[in-house]
Amino acid sequence: MINKGNIDKVVGIVKESVKKYDMPVLERFNDSKKDPYWVLIPCILSLRAKDEATAVVSENLYKIAPTPEKVLKIPLKKMEQIVYKTGFYHVKAKNVLNITRIILEKYKGKVPDDIDELLTIPGVGRKTANLVVTVAFKKPGICVDTHVHKICNRWGYVDTKDADHTEMRLREILPKKHWMKINLYLVLFGQNVCLSVSPLCSECPLGKLCPRIGVTVSR
Ligand code: SF4
Repeated sequence: MINKGNIDKVVGIVKESVKKYDMPVLERFNDSKKDPYWVLIPCILSLRAKDEATAVVSENLYKIAPTPEKVLKIPLKKMEQIVYKTGFYHVKAKNVLNITRIILEKYKGKVPDDIDELLTIPGVGRKTANLVVTVAFKKPGICVDTHVHKICNRWGYVDTKDADHTEMRLREILPKKHWMKINLYLVLFGQNVCLSVSPLCSECPLGKLCPRIGVTVSR
């Protein structure tokens, strides 16, 4: 079982094991822009989309309209075409425009650096708010996406039904020094080893520690 007694060791093992993998494409996009707005918008687009599609669409949107002012000038129909490849394009196009309008009108173009403030913006959920504060502002937060939620439950480190509860539980038990990086490590680990369907348990460096809770098929 993975618990508070061995979590430092486990995070260290995961950190070492993912060093050989390329950074996730979205992480590279966020890093390249150095602008909180361009962390926020790709996260909105990434909902139920593949990272590659989100990165391509975000880069394209950035080329067409590199500032919130220019984004807001894009008509809804055109925005739908731009974000089409990420899926749910009607909702996402509306959200991108609405969030951009709020950022410009209420926050004078500056994305808030506070989770609770970000959560007041319609369309911004906990995952997005945590990603913005950690990646864009280097402030403490735990971004729980599907990988973090799934892997922490497989480890038995948490026992939760959804990502929001996983975040709350991690805030209680995960040492703060791991908060900002846990998402990056577990996204890479989830994409390459602890796969959603049929994880590679026989090759996993945590093979002896992990109870594999809920894993029915593995390799
Ligand atoms: S042993 Fe299997 S379930 Fe556990 S972390 Fe490794 S790949 Fe995931």
